[in-house]
Amino acid sequence: MKSLNQLHLCAALSILMAHYINSSETVIDRSLQEQTMLSVLYAQSSTEYAANSIQTYANASMLLDDAIADKNWSAALEQSGEYSSKPMAIILDVDETVLDNVAFQARSILSGLSYPNGWIEWGLEATAKPVPGVSSFLENASDKGIKIFYVTNRVAELEEATRTNIKNLGLPFDDDRDVLLMRDENGWTSDKVSRRALVAEDYRILMLVGDQLTDFIPLEEAATDINSRRDLAEKYSDMWGKKWFMLTNPMYGKWEGAIYGNKYPDTKEEIMEMRLNALKP
Ligand SMILES: [Mg+2]
Repeated sequence: MKSLNQLHLCAALSILMAHYINSSETVIDRSLQEQTMLSVLYAQSSTEYAANSIQTYANASMLLDDAIADKNWSAALEQSGEYSSKPMAIILDVDETVLDNVAFQARSILSGLSYPNGWIEWGLEATAKPVPGVSSFLENASDKGIKIFYVTNRVAELEEATRTNIKNLGLPFDDDRDVLLMRDENGWTSDKVSRRALVAEDYRILMLVGDQLTDFIPLEEAATDINSRRDLAEKYSDMWGKKWFMLTNPMYGKWEGAIYGNKYPDTKEEIMEMRLNALKP
């Protein structure tokens, strides 16, 4: 019969085995990725997350007629000059705005590997589900003659798969001009300003929808420190829920970068320490 100490040892070893060893018996360290687990589970399985997305898109949908009727209405800071007679458009981000990549986040926890590991493979599968509420909103907007643009920081390598994914979900996607604007395409950087400006040349932009601050404002302005970042929500308080619609993404984003002073540390130990230090008890 095993002693109590031996039983404790066995229990501790089995926990360690479950923690560090995957099915192929490769030793992996999930400690960093596991810190995202509750946010991933929230996005994957909570009614609260889905209801929040549905209410955001329902709110946007209800305001479409106002946006159409008011010819001076524009949601883009990049919109300038005479735009009242231009055709109408809406700009949406893709990831965690139109396409739900929570399955990729779940894989990252299980593999212990951070983005971008496995990201291209996941994107090429083109099997992401729609973010709750997006389908009826886009159908409504499309029925009203509004052009839908998808402005994403997915790399150009994923353009075809992203187009396929969006189309397979039955979401509006026009082929008569480029409505899917990727990062690295035409020299575009991750700052979405130039792509919004390009759309604004030909369209009156009624609404912006995204899950990141940079889906609305310039990258430089969004890349502020953790203490002043929330002030930006107040600065643009006239826009939220009227012309700008923010989806909840607790899993990743520039908000996390702000914790590290917008420069990701090299080691997981530094990352975890900076997260801990950012807590305000
Ligand atoms: Mg996004």
